[in-house]
Amino acid sequence: MMQQTNHEVHEFQAEVKQLLNIVIHSLYTDREIFLRELISNAADALEKLRYRKITDKELRGGDLPLEISIELDDKKHTLSIADTGIGMTRQELIENLGTIAHSGSKAFIQYLSEGDQRDVNLIGQFGVGFYAAFMVADRVTVETLSWQPDAVGCIWQSEGIGNYTIDTTEGLQRGTRITLHLKEDAQEFAVEATIKRIIKQYSGFVPFSISVNGEKV
Ligand code: ADP
Ligand code: MG
Repeated sequence: MMQQTNHEVHEFQAEVKQLLNIVIHSLYTDREIFLRELISNAADALEKLRYRKITDKELRGGDLPLEISIELDDKKHTLSIADTGIGMTRQELIENLGTIAHSGSKAFIQYLSEGDQRDVNLIGQFGVGFYAAFMVADRVTVETLSWQPDAVGCIWQSEGIGNYTIDTTEGLQRGTRITLHLKEDAQEFAVEATIKRIIKQYSGFVPFSISVNGEKV
């Protein structure tokens, strides 16, 4: 059994490295779809929590409203998206954000690597939508606390190259906050009007409340 420590460095699975290398280095016109992918993951996590709530009385944070909050900071050059969904345990972080399980995504990586201007829009359909974050961010931080009462809060961090780290932390509420440290050429994604337009364009039918800097969209 692996020893439980406070700071761990993990290497991405080879397929993830390959995918990230393509995502980071290619020129894509549709990179704003990263937000659709992160909102879709947040909505999935909230949906799972809603289901859990029916059966689990021991659930953490039972009174939290089920919602998605986006915060923009044009001085720190960050975009963060928080949800009050199921969250992830340390083990789930390693399984979900470090490895690709589905064989279909290998075909997608193959497809992407064959040209310069491939349709990255399809990324979500291949079960690897999370990694779209690295189209606009040179560092991604995931703070998460699982609904499971005995779970410990974790911080996952990566620059998308080679490895990621996991640390434990106190003081998180149930759910997940993903912070994107925006690339120099992606500063438009810290602008409120831009983000609101992208939400309306791609995430109009998400069945949970979405706010941007505290204001409902
Ligand atoms: P998919 O959504 O198709 O499974 P992704 O690459 O978008 O693929 O996400 C991978 C996995 O990471 C998800 O299946 C989920 O288990 C986990 N995940 C991503 N974002 C969140 C989140 N906000 N809350 C909880 N789990 C998440
Ligand atoms: Mg997804």
